[in-house]
Amino acid sequence: MNEIGLIGLAVMGQNLALNIARKGYSVSVFNRTSEKTQEFMQNKVKDEQIKPYYDIKSFVESLKRPRKIILMVKAGKPVDDVIQEFLPYLDKGDLIIDGGNSYFKDTSRRIKELEEKGILYLGMGVSGGEAGALHGPSLMPGGTQDAYEMVKDVLLKIAAQTEAGPCCTYVGNDSAGHFVKMVHNGIEYAIMQAITEVYDVLRKVLKLSPEEIGEIFEKWNNGELNSFLMEISYKIMKCKDKETGKYLVDLILDEAEQKGTGKWTSQTSLDLGIPTPSLNLAVEARSLSFFKEERVQLAKRVTKIYPEIDIDKEKIIKDLENALLFSVFASFSQGLWVISEASKVFEYNIDLSEVLRIWKGGCIIRAKILDFLRDIIKENKENVNLLNSEKALSFLMDKIDSIKYITNLAKDFYLPMLVLNSSLDYFLSMIEENLPANLIQAQRDFFGAHTYRRIDKEGIFHTEWEAE
Ligand code: NDP
Repeated sequence: MNEIGLIGLAVMGQNLALNIARKGYSVSVFNRTSEKTQEFMQNKVKDEQIKPYYDIKSFVESLKRPRKIILMVKAGKPVDDVIQEFLPYLDKGDLIIDGGNSYFKDTSRRIKELEEKGILYLGMGVSGGEAGALHGPSLMPGGTQDAYEMVKDVLLKIAAQTEAGPCCTYVGNDSAGHFVKMVHNGIEYAIMQAITEVYDVLRKVLKLSPEEIGEIFEKWNNGELNSFLMEISYKIMKCKDKETGKYLVDLILDEAEQKGTGKWTSQTSLDLGIPTPSLNLAVEARSLSFFKEERVQLAKRVTKIYPEIDIDKEKIIKDLENALLFSVFASFSQGLWVISEASKVFEYNIDLSEVLRIWKGGCIIRAKILDFLRDIIKENKENVNLLNSEKALSFLMDKIDSIKYITNLAKDFYLPMLVLNSSLDYFLSMIEENLPANLIQAQRDFFGAHTYRRIDKEGIFHTEWEAE
């Protein structure tokens, strides 16, 4: 009898199964298409205790009770289909762990449905891509504490290990794990987009080659911007196409795809009423990129007049680094605020400092700045909006001139900067005592009698505007 079962042998499932087996556990595996299971067994499995099954009944029966089954299948309907398929063979007290990128509301529904049948369920965010799954991902399990206790030892062993401990913790109740993974991806979209905006200035304003940009990114990666996304970006810059000898990045079509987690983060933030402009604009940037044909045609129809300005290369590079740091901070700050609000609204009971700790290793948004963010949260756990901290304010104010300069420079060169601009606007909005929202209230009251509040007296007011 094997200790753990895993269903879904695409890249993530294969590597997670290998990772679990290499930590000394026996694993049963199953995949809908049996050829993939055979290929996996032949090409990837060596001495690991992994046993393949080709029908779901024998797969379930091969597991020690209470059974622990990890799903690594495509998010959405496939998760429900697979559960329905093996549910008849499960017993009360068995545990299902969904390690895919499931929508958190689906996870809440599944937890409830399965609880009625006596089956435990964990919705677990997994970050780190295929390499992470194999060598140690960041794991974000949510559900009941009892369910977590059943697999805690395995999860702590297979997760990435850092000085701050294994990158796995019990994230919180219900769909907390998948919620946190969703926002993780929203932040990931924003940071990726911010890096591309900085790259655009380096190549179009400073006219640097990918190699030269790679040198700059590598240097930044040795400093405050140290992160997985910075590291892969410098490596990408230096990579040449084997066929043509050209820089590969220059040959890649500029249409950015998406699978939906970034969009879900924005939709959810809008529903919760928490401002996440940098995360939202990162999704919009990907959508805009998809209109290649229109962009090509429109670019031909306008004349862009570029300014004749002295380019101070060293200043621009330093300001770009600061602007990127500003935007990365703003993106994390917005994401954490959403998590914090969701924790209250959905009663997840999430410890933000723990979330930041488990993002330190294995995951795509691992970054040096997480230590700084953790310090801010630890300073005052009520600081859900990080900007309330003195440290955060001085960090951003130190960099504000840089991001102002860079976003203006980009405009001079007709370069869009959806995330950098929105990061700055987010901060400017948050530090502005008087926003022009008074006029919106007046407009709403004018056309819809929606009423308004006043600054000089208590109460709710309505005006017959044209009669005044
Ligand atoms: P995919 O998301 O491409 O899913 C493929 C797997 O799902 C295959 O095993 C496939 O089986 C199975 N599947 C699809 N539809 C069904 C169905 N109706 N019934 C049964 N099985 C089905 O694989 P990945 O490995 O990329 O990802 C797995 C999960 O992990 C996803 O939720 C993904 O979002 C998430 N994830 C992925 C990351 C990545 O970097 N790829 C990172 C973090 C999370 P078959 O072989 O028969 O088609």
